[in-house]
Amino acid sequence: MPELPEVETIVRGLEPIVRGRRIESVWWSRRPLHLLRPIDLRGLRAVLVGRTIAGVRRRGKYIILESDRPRDEGVVIHLGMTGRLRVQPAAGARAPHTHVVFGLAGGDELRFVDARRFGWVEPGRPLARVAALADLGPDALAGFDATTLAAALTGVRAPIKAFLLDQRRIAGLGNIYVSEALFRAGIHPATPADRVRRRAAELLEAVGAVLAGGIARRGTTLRDYVDADGQRGDNAAALQVYGRASKPCPSCGTAIRRRVDAGRATFFCPRCQPPRR
Ligand SMILES: [Zn+2]
Repeated sequence: MPELPEVETIVRGLEPIVRGRRIESVWWSRRPLHLLRPIDLRGLRAVLVGRTIAGVRRRGKYIILESDRPRDEGVVIHLGMTGRLRVQPAAGARAPHTHVVFGLAGGDELRFVDARRFGWVEPGRPLARVAALADLGPDALAGFDATTLAAALTGVRAPIKAFLLDQRRIAGLGNIYVSEALFRAGIHPATPADRVRRRAAELLEAVGAVLAGGIARRGTTLRDYVDADGQRGDNAAALQVYGRASKPCPSCGTAIRRRVDAGRATFFCPRCQPPRR
């Protein structure tokens, strides 16, 4: 599933292509997307058709297309597991699994393609009233300093891994970057979040470093992810622990372990990340 660095890479790729372009039409495949919900086609047309895209920005793992008027209207997109966004000539054939198409003035289309249909496209009228955005915690890349992260950790008994995955507490992280950040900070994934509060500065440094590395390498492609140009990201080769079960830890040589909590895999080094109670 795309996480913050993949979404940020897509936003940076899309923004210069679509900013300032007028939207002339919205098309939907009539196949329901996330949770089998139908798309609000009428709402999408109301916030976009005849208007110009004022900007593209990211919030957590969400992509926001901002309309030029009125302010704070636009479209919220979540890529789910396999969602892709590409700008392509309207005359070219649409890829299989194309589910939403925004027709741009000048003959291009912004296409949302999603093979597994866990993604989501929703109008915001206003954006501030979109529940998925309103529920998000501060952004993992820029929303915290050590003091505010320590305060957020205080009194939380859940494991630090669960804390970091909870989008209401900190927005943008998923399994890959949580595994990498906890390894970098030397924190066992099952450590109660409250016990990490005195190490909030180290944890924040680790989160920032793995996200910055992921963005610099244009995202992690394990299977499906591609950027706005259809290119794979280069970050998979830089992963230290994620997906490396039983391989040697790059730091100490101990075999990396994989554990599954609540259906989600975490990879860690039992020596560099000792358990703390
Ligand atoms: Zn190690």
